[in-house]
Amino acid sequence: MIIRMSPGASIEQLERVINRITQDYGLRCETIVSDTTVIGVKGIASVVDEGRILELPGVDRVIRITEKYKDASRSFHRDDSVIDIAPGVRAGGPHLTFFGGPCAIESEKQAIESAMMAKDAGVDVLRAFVDKSRTSPYDYRGLELQKGLEIAAAMKEATGLPTVSELIDLRHLDAFLKAGIDVIQVGARSAQYSPLLEELSRIENPVVLKHGFGNDLNEWLCAAAYIMSGMDREGRVAGSGNRNVILCYRGIKSFESETRFGADTGMIPLVRMRSHLPLIADPSHSGGDRRLVERMTYAFVAAGAQGIEFDIHNNPAEALCDGKQAVQEDAGRIIATARRIHAMLDGIGIETGSSVPVAAV
Ligand code: PEP
Ligand code: MN
Repeated sequence: MIIRMSPGASIEQLERVINRITQDYGLRCETIVSDTTVIGVKGIASVVDEGRILELPGVDRVIRITEKYKDASRSFHRDDSVIDIAPGVRAGGPHLTFFGGPCAIESEKQAIESAMMAKDAGVDVLRAFVDKSRTSPYDYRGLELQKGLEIAAAMKEATGLPTVSELIDLRHLDAFLKAGIDVIQVGARSAQYSPLLEELSRIENPVVLKHGFGNDLNEWLCAAAYIMSGMDREGRVAGSGNRNVILCYRGIKSFESETRFGADTGMIPLVRMRSHLPLIADPSHSGGDRRLVERMTYAFVAAGAQGIEFDIHNNPAEALCDGKQAVQEDAGRIIATARRIHAMLDGIGIETGSSVPVAAV
């Protein structure tokens, strides 16, 4: 971080800025006095709130040199991160990992039949969604917690697959873990809810962090880095953090009303360039229409996504939640074809922002 002082800033003003950096944030400063006085901040400047520096008299500009999302950034971690989800199931690096299953658990029969359909199709991680965040709070939001968790455990038992489930209420975390949920999902609507991110930094289970549909790349990666950093609300490192974060792209609000959200395939190679974390994409929740899911899957994989999360339902016509965007047995063909595309593009490097690409083996 570089702080440029205004022309004519006094020595006292300069000292006040240096004091704030060194005393409030415990970082070091190096000052260059020339026509314009600049202060170079040394150390991890992620914790520095630019606004608190800019408000000091005599400060003209604050310029970040490295990303605020240090832990999630490729600048600080060149190689792809690979995350262990369960024995034989990994995400990131060369792996192409499929997360699928019903949007929500509606009944034991529906959940088990959908889970078996997902397993037969070849998914690696089963959606077992107990709590549901919905576009309208009047829509179906899941069964009562204990009943939902029992069914989630039965889905895992019946398929032998690890499970992913969205955590909406912080108070449910222990129950989720006790019920054997393997991966915790942070939904698009919760992606900036700091208390939830903070709580997930204290566990080791992998976290799928959805892209908030009103967030830019910097905000999304800051949320990921926050889970990884183990920081508390005062900006102190309070724990070791949770390194097992998987990013999931699902598009942002756009003016187009015929797709559910606007998904930009360019974001896929861009996020891979900026971050070492595994990146998957969700064609069900971005397209919002099963007729778009297959082609969107292939586009995301060709763009460099390291996995896909999508809705698979045993009987979409009767679904209480998002049936319109769920696929059925065709999930098997989609997964197999996506794997062929992934293999065909093997060896095409992912841009890492330097002249030496990291091979996308
Ligand atoms: C979901 O995956 O079920 C979901 C609600 O997605 P999103 O948080 O992206 O809306
Ligand atoms: Mn859904």
